[in-house]
Amino acid sequence: MNPPLEVRARPGLEQGAAFRVADTLAAVRAEDLVAELRALLAVPSVTGSAAESEAQHHVERRLRAVGMDTDLWGIDVAATAADPQFPGMEADRDEAWGLVGAWGDGQGSTLVLNGHVDVVPPGGAGWSAQPWAGQVRDGRVWGRGACDMKAGLACQLLAVRALRDAGVRLRGRVLLQNVVGEEDGGLGTFATLRRGHRGDLAVICEPTRGQVVCATAGALTFRLVVPGRSVHASARLEGVDAVEKYVHVRAALRRLEARRNAAPHPLMAGYRLPYPICVGTLAAGNWSSSVPDRVVAEGRLGVALGETVEGARGELERAVAAACADDPWLRSHPVTVQWWGGQFAPAQVEPDAGVTRLLAAAHVRVHGAAPAVLGAPYGSDQRLLTGLAGIPTVLYGPGDVRQAHAPDESVPVGELVEVTRTLVQLIAAACGPGPA
Ligand SMILES: [Zn+2]
Repeated sequence: MNPPLEVRARPGLEQGAAFRVADTLAAVRAEDLVAELRALLAVPSVTGSAAESEAQHHVERRLRAVGMDTDLWGIDVAATAADPQFPGMEADRDEAWGLVGAWGDGQGSTLVLNGHVDVVPPGGAGWSAQPWAGQVRDGRVWGRGACDMKAGLACQLLAVRALRDAGVRLRGRVLLQNVVGEEDGGLGTFATLRRGHRGDLAVICEPTRGQVVCATAGALTFRLVVPGRSVHASARLEGVDAVEKYVHVRAALRRLEARRNAAPHPLMAGYRLPYPICVGTLAAGNWSSSVPDRVVAEGRLGVALGETVEGARGELERAVAAACADDPWLRSHPVTVQWWGGQFAPAQVEPDAGVTRLLAAAHVRVHGAAPAVLGAPYGSDQRLLTGLAGIPTVLYGPGDVRQAHAPDESVPVGELVEVTRTLVQLIAAACGPGPA
């Protein structure tokens, strides 16, 4: 571990304003982080559920408890969804809440720390721990959202608390943007930006295992409707089995996927499949003794770094059209392609951008070694913060994304501490201390 950074007050401020970040780092304690995370995990804030709103109200109380000013507002979902730049939404919502905590004098740079409170459903199988109990075992905290990304939320909050408890004042400002609806498109971050909460640089504390993710692939949700012709099962040959037609189209999607991953961007070179095409739900037929007349397949198309959303959609549409063209039935009854739900464009900042360098330097002060800087194959709110609002944004947080959305999701306690300490260093470097 490197010697802790000593941050001195800028000229013109009181001499006694110097403070040692080391004192603040010592105030970052594993037991506090675990308790904060467990309280977050106890709220089953599945995307689009009432508990999503409950989570925002819980976090608002926590932001106030650490001394932040808060803006908690009801998002006008219908008006927001009607915005021409709205990024999409899959869950039905009656209500949604925006929440931003702010701290600092606002005389210098504004650092945004962004995190989502919503989580995907736990699913039924494969859990050895209770999804909402926040069990602590084997040096890890377990539960739905443990790594994606309530751990990141806990780190953000306690980094601010540690600095405030040490009597630090910030010349600049730190904003904690707590958002809903990340998992189904980005409603929360979009509404937060529309409300005017912006900054000079941003970090989303998604699970990156303490690596700096400067680029994220896009992800477009699609629906394929594959027609068949239903007849009684006893006369199967008289009908057209939509499932068999779907299998034909699926083979074309696999070939398209291979083509699209043949020469990925260097930031994606470490992934076997940076831009997957995955069908996640299938619905077919309506009676066990009937030839299925229809398949509805919903899936997700990965978008390459530097590729446009329109370009990626065009590739999938052409591949489906070509598959239809070489099937006698589908030629006259073509598959329809619909784009709905989350539409994540890819996003990136340069690996040597200011935000990347500042965060990497903060990481070095805690770990004594530079973090990996790389791309990630999933969509994120980076494309809203960077793409829409022009805020240079990277991802950095505790936990391994391979555990996200899976049973027995968990996060190592050690990473909670390390990421929080890095955020302490980052806030001090980016926002600068004011007089104590
Ligand atoms: Zn996430």
